[in-house]
Amino acid sequence: VWPVIERAVERIRPQADRKQQVICVEPAADLPLALMDGDRIGQVLLNLLHNAVKFTPEGGTITVAAEVLTLRDDEQPSRPDRPPHPAGTWLLIRVSDTGIGIPNRDIQRIFERFYKVDRARTRHAGGTGLGLAIAKHLVEGHGGRIWASSQEGHGSTFWFTLPAA
Ligand code: ATP
Ligand code: MG
Repeated sequence: VWPVIERAVERIRPQADRKQQVICVEPAADLPLALMDGDRIGQVLLNLLHNAVKFTPEGGTITVAAEVLTLRDDEQPSRPDRPPHPAGTWLLIRVSDTGIGIPNRDIQRIFERFYKVDRARTRHAGGTGLGLAIAKHLVEGHGGRIWASSQEGHGSTFWFTLPAA
């Protein structure tokens, strides 16, 4: 997955540079392989990174990380902060930012088509509200899940999983 991550990060870097934002890629060893369409998962990462840049003020930090998630039967249903997954081995990818965050009342709805958090400070941010709906469609097409958590005013974290090969 690293080449796909690197490619997406390099594509978004000029936009981050313009806002003096730092992009950290946290390396991890021994990741499982996942079968994926690199173009489509690259698009997922680009949509998440684009949002992170857009909704993070100048000087902020964006972090991309990947890790392995191993789930046994007796661990289901999983934690409240993670949607349920079938038991097995998953690749877990995270994009987090130090941006404006997402209010709790909106966090379930941001993956809906055309849904945008309506707020004075983002009304002029541009975009159609499709990026996350497309990301969800692409991740679920791979058999994975995508979700988010946020602390308003402090930042947001988006996660998605892909089944290990
Ligand atoms: P598009 O992606 O089509 O250009 P968009 O970015 O507004 O438009 P989505 O990517 O689907 O649409 O995101 C939906 C909404 O979720 C955004 O309008 C914004 O309100 C909120 N959002 C998404 N990512 C973040 C983030 N990293 N920080 C804060 N809010 C976010
Ligand atoms: Mg977007």
